[in-house]
Amino acid sequence: LLITFEGGDGVGKTTQLDLLTSTLAAARISCRRTLEPGGTPLGQEIRRLLLHGGEVTPRAEALLYAADRAHHVDTVIRPALEEGAVVVCDRYLDSSVAYQGAARALGPTEVRDLSLWATGSLLPDLTVLLDADPALARQRTAVRGAKDRLEREPGSFHHALREQFLALAAAEPGRFTVIDACQPVAQVAQAVHQAVGRLLAA
Ligand code: C5P
Ligand code: MG
Repeated sequence: LLITFEGGDGVGKTTQLDLLTSTLAAARISCRRTLEPGGTPLGQEIRRLLLHGGEVTPRAEALLYAADRAHHVDTVIRPALEEGAVVVCDRYLDSSVAYQGAARALGPTEVRDLSLWATGSLLPDLTVLLDADPALARQRTAVRGAKDRLEREPGSFHHALREQFLALAAAEPGRFTVIDACQPVAQVAQAVHQAVGRLLAA
């Protein structure tokens, strides 16, 4: 099973992934946690170029994310799925549709098609969308210290991003679970565990 976590910057994906992976480990469920961009050695280099390198045009950016994802799926995600692990991934193709497709205005459909080509059409069994008002999420990234160029984009960028994530969830309600990330951490975690529990029981 492939479970992905999505949402804008500062919504709490990392915290929730920490909690979910320890719960799965306690239940002795084989779990492989990974992330995008940067889930492989090649991906780490791509991540550095994307977030801390020089100028990257929008199409080049989309292709670099697609390259990261293609290599990640081939060398990490598919092998782990074949071994029967539950793969839990911090961001996946919906991030590209939202960031490169909507917020960068390349077009969500084109970016989705590119991603499906890159992954051989591997879609998650469950996508947890942590949804929060970008203004609130910005406070969290400000506390943590803005660490990359995306987190310094203007409010309109983060607003477009959130709307695209919500539109994706509305278009595929069977795959997505949308959780209000403004709730306390424990309540968000409970909602995540319920969604994952339903998937594991199915
Ligand atoms: O999830 P994390 O914050 O580590 O992601 C690193 C950065 O990459 C984020 O600022 C996010 O906005 C950006 N990103 C992106 N397009 C993607 C995935 C991540 O712009 N497809
Ligand atoms: Mg970030």
